[in-house]
Amino acid sequence: MAPPKKTFVVTPKDARLRVLKIFPVLKKTYPDATIALNWDNPWNLLVAVILSAQCTDVRVNLVTQDLFKKYKSPADYLSVPQEELEQDIRSTGFYRNKARNIRGAARKIIDDYGGQVPRTMEELLTLPGAGRKTANCILGNAFGIPGIPCDTHVIRLSRRLGLSKHRDPVKLEFDLMEIVPKEQYGGWTMFSHILIWHGRTICKARKPDCPACPIAAHCPSANRPELW
Ligand code: SF4
Repeated sequence: MAPPKKTFVVTPKDARLRVLKIFPVLKKTYPDATIALNWDNPWNLLVAVILSAQCTDVRVNLVTQDLFKKYKSPADYLSVPQEELEQDIRSTGFYRNKARNIRGAARKIIDDYGGQVPRTMEELLTLPGAGRKTANCILGNAFGIPGIPCDTHVIRLSRRLGLSKHRDPVKLEFDLMEIVPKEQYGGWTMFSHILIWHGRTICKARKPDCPACPIAAHCPSANRPELW
């Protein structure tokens, strides 16, 4: 069995300074960084995020193209048998669970939140299938309320950059909230976007392209495969 990868972790003070160096560079590199899912209102974003679990954003966008024409409100998802919704989202995988979560969220939003997607972490976490990643994604993108959704790219890059030793997304999120400016350079939500874009284009999981990386000078894992 391969030994666990080492992680280069610095003190919170040093991590904060490192973030201040890399954040503006990545912001300049990816000025249009944003969520890759298509959506036009908070409820549709919630549906898209639920569908994106274990599925590519491209596939989700293909499915929601038709889905959002057929179902326009939470009530619409409850007006058909669950099996019909399952077939409509089947190609995103785990479609039974996802259909159950979408309908459960629709029910809760109608019964408890007046038909509107709630705007607080606490309330969003009461929706079936919504964890902190989903809640932060909704808060930041739909409502402009700072949040740091920690997906696989954010976890990988934060560890490579020595910002946190945690793989657990919730523990990582709390570490990042301590060291990433909440508003500056686009704030928490933008920090998550740019790490995701950097992770997709340059700092890929298997083979990061360190020679092409604009933040290599500040990265303790640059050209060190033993830390990838
Ligand atoms: S230097 Fe390499 S490991 Fe570090 S962020 Fe850039 S691509 Fe990733």
